[in-house]
Amino acid sequence: MINITFPDKSVREYSEGSTGLDIAKSISNSLAREVMSVSVDREIWDLDRKIFKDAEVRFHKFDDAEGKHAFWHSSAHLMAEALEELYPGIKFGIGPAIENGFYYDVDPGDGVQISDLDLPKIEKKMKELASQKEAFTRKEVSKKEALEFFGSKGDEYKLELINDLEDGTISFYSQGHFTDLCRGPHLSDTSAIKAVKLLSVAGAYWRGDEKRKMMTRIYGISFPKQKMLDEYLEMLEKAKERDHRKIGRELELFTFSQRVGQGLPLWLPKGARLRERLENFLKKVQVSYGYQPVITPHIGQKELYVTSGHYEKYGKDSFQPITTPQEGEEFLLKPMNCPHHIEIYRSGQHSYKDLPIRYAEFGTVYRYEQSGELHGLTRVRGFTQDDAHIFCRPDQLKDEFKNVMDIIFTIFKALDFKDYKAQISLRDPDDHTKYIGSDENWEKAERAIIEAAEEKGMNAVVEYGEAAFYGPKLDFMVRDALGREWQLGTIQVDYNLPDRFELEYVGSDNQKHRPVMIHRAPFGSMERFVAVLIEHTAGKFPLWLTPDQIVVMPISEKYEDYAKKVLNFLNNCDIRTLIDDRNEKIGKKIRDNELRRIPYLLIIGEKEQDSGTVSVRRQGEGDKGTMKLEEFAGFIQSEVKQQLEEISK
Ligand SMILES: [Zn+2]
Ligand SMILES: [Zn+2]
Repeated sequence: MINITFPDKSVREYSEGSTGLDIAKSISNSLAREVMSVSVDREIWDLDRKIFKDAEVRFHKFDDAEGKHAFWHSSAHLMAEALEELYPGIKFGIGPAIENGFYYDVDPGDGVQISDLDLPKIEKKMKELASQKEAFTRKEVSKKEALEFFGSKGDEYKLELINDLEDGTISFYSQGHFTDLCRGPHLSDTSAIKAVKLLSVAGAYWRGDEKRKMMTRIYGISFPKQKMLDEYLEMLEKAKERDHRKIGRELELFTFSQRVGQGLPLWLPKGARLRERLENFLKKVQVSYGYQPVITPHIGQKELYVTSGHYEKYGKDSFQPITTPQEGEEFLLKPMNCPHHIEIYRSGQHSYKDLPIRYAEFGTVYRYEQSGELHGLTRVRGFTQDDAHIFCRPDQLKDEFKNVMDIIFTIFKALDFKDYKAQISLRDPDDHTKYIGSDENWEKAERAIIEAAEEKGMNAVVEYGEAAFYGPKLDFMVRDALGREWQLGTIQVDYNLPDRFELEYVGSDNQKHRPVMIHRAPFGSMERFVAVLIEHTAGKFPLWLTPDQIVVMPISEKYEDYAKKVLNFLNNCDIRTLIDDRNEKIGKKIRDNELRRIPYLLIIGEKEQDSGTVSVRRQGEGDKGTMKLEEFAGFIQSEVKQQLEEISK
């Protein structure tokens, strides 16, 4: 018999060689129906793989990331099987599960093309194969066998992948007539894949190398229920309308220029002011939490990043060093702000009484991303982090964490993110060797994060083995108005950089001690945050933040003078107002300005001119009646004030 331990720490006995599915069945039939894969001692396995020793077991259903992964990965195999039936001789690159769905990179052969028009046919084939309930079976093979199999198929891509693998680690998965090189895990059989949609076809270089073959990448998504697919497709439609690239253009927030370069956003005046308001808002909050501003250059000597270890991480795969013509110095565009802030810390002496020291900077960093990976403001090559580095004593970690969490909550509240959760990433409990820093410090930091989250009433998931080698961290995930999850806001403990830079403070014992560092960025980056905010609000920002708060619309030329008076009056009251004096019907002006997502629309005609009033419409709510001009200004100012007070409560 073997002892199986469940997540709630309860233990049950099973006979040796029981499978994940056997164990699920012993708990309930509904669990057995819904389970997709199983973690056995934190390694994800197929459900039908036999367990021969005592183990900790966790089941994964479609509603968790591991379950979805097995489901979508199996769907990629199913698509490959369908493709092989429809396009004999087709060759396969890689076919992973991704955040939403799966893809497969294929080479259909010379002269054969797969386009969007072919997707329905492939989908149909997939459904037909899925309904045949084909079992996914795993087979461990030697490298020689693996090479022979794909050699006889003439699939040079798989041969290349196998050549990179070590003998003894290779497995095949088969379903129906199709066999793939794969590590797994997979579903038990294809019948769980009830709904499939192939979404698009794109080109992708083999192994991301532009000198190599351009493969055909087919994206798809699948679900265990048709209803889930329908809802997903509906969400995608809505997401398209909210796409930050589209709204960013409509609201004139940002643009890109091929001349300036891909992935390098250009903020237009309205976008720049919006970003400035966000920055000022955070700066104000940070001052109240004891942060001090610093400013550092966009480049740094290569040696700085060699010391920090960033050169090792980014040097080869990112922008290459800049050299000076005469002296042969080497500089890097900064991939991170931390080393600069560390040098500021090192510029003075610090006593235990000075700590924590918190340096904040909206620091712009540059990292190379492949052009195919670039996406609007969410994936760029240059971006500005709302960065700060806290240098503190180990006993101050918990309070610092709580402070940073408070700042993050303030931001979520200000921008109407109501649904969020946190993930705490800790060390792998079975292997402490891969982490830098003493056991004692790690335990202190891990405990500090867990307690801080508890004391703040956060419902946080703890993930073991997810910590970086240099320290544990806490990440926030927000759910937007469409139910999509975004990672925003990180707090990361670091024992590594203080070591590498030999940071010190003088303790109460008059001895030298090493401070702990915390990296934190509540927004993450201004670019990504604004993108998420646009998609969350559909461009309808809160009044305090929105680019244009008011539009004045005279119903005809005759009232333009009074309209301009209104415009000037409001702008002088610091209310962001513009005028729509186009020679258009008022109905059209209302529609156009609602599309521009301006919160308040003022209609100006004879009645208003004569009585010194404005007729007010609120975006999405309609007519709000007539107000004296001064009264309206006061009303707007108090709405903004109230919003800001609400946040700081
Ligand atoms: Zn696979
Ligand atoms: Zn940092």
